[in-house]
Amino acid sequence: MKITKSIGFSYPTSSNAIALGFEGFGCWHISVTCHDIEGSGQSRTFTPHNAEGFDRPDDLDLIAMFLETDGKTCEAFKTYGNPKALEAIERHPQLKCRKCEAVNPMVYLAPVVIDGAGSCICLDCADARGWIDGNGNICEGIEL
Ligand SMILES: [Zn+2]
Repeated sequence: MKITKSIGFSYPTSSNAIALGFEGFGCWHISVTCHDIEGSGQSRTFTPHNAEGFDRPDDLDLIAMFLETDGKTCEAFKTYGNPKALEAIERHPQLKCRKCEAVNPMVYLAPVVIDGAGSCICLDCADARGWIDGNGNICEGIEL
């Protein structure tokens, strides 16, 4: 089964907007689609259980949630998605720590980004391995 994700808008009168507390306003949120469920050829799109509604498609919390959501970015969203959301995602590539798999750590070293997805070493991991000196610099002779 393939899972894709996108950022969508729910209209003010939609059940999603009501469920997310944006009745009468509408909101942006994460949508996840499961394709070909159990080989049936059917797919289902839903908002993840932890979904929240947002006023703006480029809200940084929404972008962060999107990056942490499992699944590949939906092709149609990549092409036709809201330009502000797409731009915000572009500016915040997903970085996973190569040691502990933490997603988008606050402080990191040695990022490698290819096609909007990347890896890095989070500060905790670098620190735990003694790769950082007292000033927060990488110790001499350490290659990350
Ligand atoms: Zn780490």
